[in-house]
Amino acid sequence: MVGGEAATEAGRDFIRDIIAADLESGRHRQVVTRFPPEPNGYLHIGHAKAICLNFGVAQEFGGRCHLRFDDTNPTREEQEYIDAIERDVRWLGFDWGPHLYHASDYFEQLYDWAEYLVHVGKAYVDDQSQEEMRAARGTLTEPGRNSPFRERSVEENLDLLRRMRAGEFPNGARVLRAKIDMASGNINLRDPVLYRILHAEHPRTGAAWRIYPSYDFAHGQSDAIEGITHSICTLEFEDHRPLYDWFIDNLPVPSRPRQYEFARLNLSYTVLSKRVLTELVRGGHVGGWDDPRMPTLAGLRRRGVPPAAIRDFIRRVGVAKANSVVDVGMLEFSIREHLNRTAQRRMAVLRPLKVVIENYQGLGEELDAINHPDDPSAGTRRIRFGRELYVERDDFMENPPKKFFRLSPGKEVRLRYAYFITCREVVKDAAGETIELRCTYDPATKGGNAPDRRKVQATLHWVSAADAVPAEVRLFNQLFMSEVPNAGNFTADLDPNSLEVLPGAMVEPSLAGTNAVDAVQFERQGYFYRDPDSAPGKLVFNRTVGLRDTWAKVQAAL
Ligand code: ATP
Ligand code: MG
Repeated sequence: MVGGEAATEAGRDFIRDIIAADLESGRHRQVVTRFPPEPNGYLHIGHAKAICLNFGVAQEFGGRCHLRFDDTNPTREEQEYIDAIERDVRWLGFDWGPHLYHASDYFEQLYDWAEYLVHVGKAYVDDQSQEEMRAARGTLTEPGRNSPFRERSVEENLDLLRRMRAGEFPNGARVLRAKIDMASGNINLRDPVLYRILHAEHPRTGAAWRIYPSYDFAHGQSDAIEGITHSICTLEFEDHRPLYDWFIDNLPVPSRPRQYEFARLNLSYTVLSKRVLTELVRGGHVGGWDDPRMPTLAGLRRRGVPPAAIRDFIRRVGVAKANSVVDVGMLEFSIREHLNRTAQRRMAVLRPLKVVIENYQGLGEELDAINHPDDPSAGTRRIRFGRELYVERDDFMENPPKKFFRLSPGKEVRLRYAYFITCREVVKDAAGETIELRCTYDPATKGGNAPDRRKVQATLHWVSAADAVPAEVRLFNQLFMSEVPNAGNFTADLDPNSLEVLPGAMVEPSLAGTNAVDAVQFERQGYFYRDPDSAPGKLVFNRTVGLRDTWAKVQAAL
């Protein structure tokens, strides 16, 4: 289902073209991809692009996609992140079946290959300090210098490597390096580090290892072990590809994967750096990884974004080879479009102003309200009218400017599904604040239409005071004020008003049901989703996205 959508709507991109050609030529019989997160943070919408691409092509071309944790750095990785990543990939709609792997599953094999490189004279133990190595690495314009330890004998290298593994040396005392070319134009080929000493417990291998492989040494070999055919990664690894290939060429690996690079997703007003996201959480700038303002999948879920809307957005973005910044309005567009189709309509008053219908004598009558204007099968519900109602405070102005069509003294408006009402009097408190409107209604306008075809210029949403349920509503702005936030000094760019809490909202009683967890549209206010902070007697709603289509404006400006 997911893959089918991607195949038809996204059409082809260069990755899909390559895979199709490889299958056609017989180079591969089945496509095998992997999504390789490092469990050092939660997944974000940028990862969603990599997930949709890797799992998507596997589905479309009848192959498979592995979930592989790139867990080579035990000082930064945690079980919480592993659990969150699995949950979020599933939530996004993808399934790795039995193909759950870890780079740490291959530590023994990787180590054997390290000894192999030593045996064939293609790796050596270097005793230089980090600073010495950095100084000898050269620059983009100058070659590096060979290490004084580069010509050690195979025996000495093997002995040192084994003692590194056995934990004989402190952190940083030595590293194992590949012996490639210190004068290479590609700095990644200047004798890259394969193993470093790290006396750290690993979430999976415990205390078994005192040395850990580098990303470069682990990644391609893990791909080869798993039979990955197309190792798809982001552009910053393009310069690593010669090294990726060097390992594959120089080791007795069981298969020959190839690496392909695509442009990472960047979103305006958003930071997609795990380092920054971690700092936002640790520094208490947000409520956690699942704060609805976070671009994490957990945050988007809590905000009420349906996974199908994310997949749709990723499909629209497409897969290219040039980096760019995607307008965050495009994500909102996908969310809004999806929710417009799926979310039932309800009425909720975010900032209530009391209305008393002076000539209403009834005890409250039930009216029919439509659950979805485009989907008759969603049916109708009964809502109660009454003498006392709440309307939106913003829908009233005592001294309105010319273009203000909503409530003001003497003005008639329609209450959705109910009657026309006219404002007769404004009641204020001692401080001069409007606290109540005294209105009259026209009994002949039941259902919202006047028999004399008299027009009103506004239709307002409302709830009846007798049975409305109090709720807290949370509105969100972008976390960052700049279109392209400065990831270096991001705190200065945080919008102090990114969260607006409205503690006194009043919502239709149908929203208080215990199983009313689906996304809803609050008429005229946007799409909302019940927050897990809700408890018995305390309803909390997050605004997923407003109704205003900023993307339409963006498109119009193009
Ligand atoms: P870091 O490596 O700095 O911790 P990362 O975002 O690269 O951060 P990984 O866990 O290594 O985190 O990412 C897993 C996969 O997701 C990688 O293949 C990476 O290329 C891809 N990925 C990460 N960020 C994006 C992005 N913004 N757009 C597309 N793909 C991304
Ligand atoms: Mg990475």
